[in-house]
Order: sequence, then C-alpha cells, then structure tokens
Amino acid sequence: MCRYTPIDKIAVPCMNDSEGFTNMPVPGRRCPACLERGDTVWVIPGKACPQCGTPVN
Ligand SMILES: [Zn+2]
Repeated sequence: MCRYTPIDKIAVPCMNDSEGFTNMPVPGRRCPACLERGDTVWVIPGKACPQCGTPVN
C-alpha cells in the first residue's frame, strides 16, 4: 500500500507502520573504537565488535 502512496500523502499513514523501520539492516550500535579510527561498524548490543573485538553494550 505505502509504496504506491502519492508523495504528498506519504508521511502520516506510513509513519504508523513501523515495518519500514524494523526492516532496516542496522543491528544496533556503532563500535566506539572503530568509530575513532573512522570506521562505522554496527554491533549488536551485548556482543563484541566483529572488527576489533570491543564489547558493545
Ligand atoms: Zn570495533
């Protein structure tokens, strides 16, 4: 439905449907250690960074 909504009507009805947000491929938080090096590495909270091993909570 939302995909075919005209652009001027897109905001309100689609905002209530959280599906578009939960489908985002972002698992959690950015690793702070990698962020300092200029890399954005997403880490699931409670897991360790796959790049540098830093635990992220
Ligand atoms: Zn890292």
